[in-house]
Amino acid sequence: GTEPGTVREGEPRLTVVSGPSGVGKSSVITELRKQAPEIYFSVSATTRAPRAGEVEGEQYHFVDDAEFRRMVDEGEMLEHAQYAGNYYGTPRGPVQRALAAGRPAVLEIELQGARQVRRAMPEAQLVMLLPPSWEMLVDRLTGRGTEPDDVVQRRLEVARNELAAEPEFDTAVVNSDVQVAASELVRLIAGCRS
Ligand code: 5GP
Repeated sequence: GTEPGTVREGEPRLTVVSGPSGVGKSSVITELRKQAPEIYFSVSATTRAPRAGEVEGEQYHFVDDAEFRRMVDEGEMLEHAQYAGNYYGTPRGPVQRALAAGRPAVLEIELQGARQVRRAMPEAQLVMLLPPSWEMLVDRLTGRGTEPDDVVQRRLEVARNELAAEPEFDTAVVNSDVQVAASELVRLIAGCRS
């Protein structure tokens, strides 16, 4: 018999895309969604406030702490984590329905969440998005130079820690060019059968 939550051979599986802040995850994901609308892209719940231009249900489901807690307590989250003072989590239902309907599914989440998915769904494919070089990531993270040194230092430390987790991932994709990185991801996701 098949264990609950496992995906049989030939069925689409789940792909997790992770990578340090500043690597350009959201640009690559936006491009990926343009290139491959057949892929189901999970919409996370978060307690952080919407940024300018963000629309409820598109980038995120924006919820308050009580609603987030309820979702976790009632087992509605596939994984969840705290990041930069806010909570983020993947609602389980839509992902399971997409996979059951034969659509490959993608989560774009941070490292702690990726580790939880690895444990809960060992058949999931973990992809880390990498910067072309550490120097380029430092440039992106120190960027405008408007932030205090300790904030920038903390960000670099977090990024270094995330990059160090690369061996836990199945594949790495270098983001030198958004279009190229996105098509490489599409190939990995589409060819992704357990
Ligand atoms: P942002 O607030 O900039 O949109 O996202 C901050 C971080 O949270 C990013 O690294 C993003 O990948 C991660 N994130 C977004 N949604 C989820 C989620 O559902 N679960 C986890 N674990 N991380 C998430």
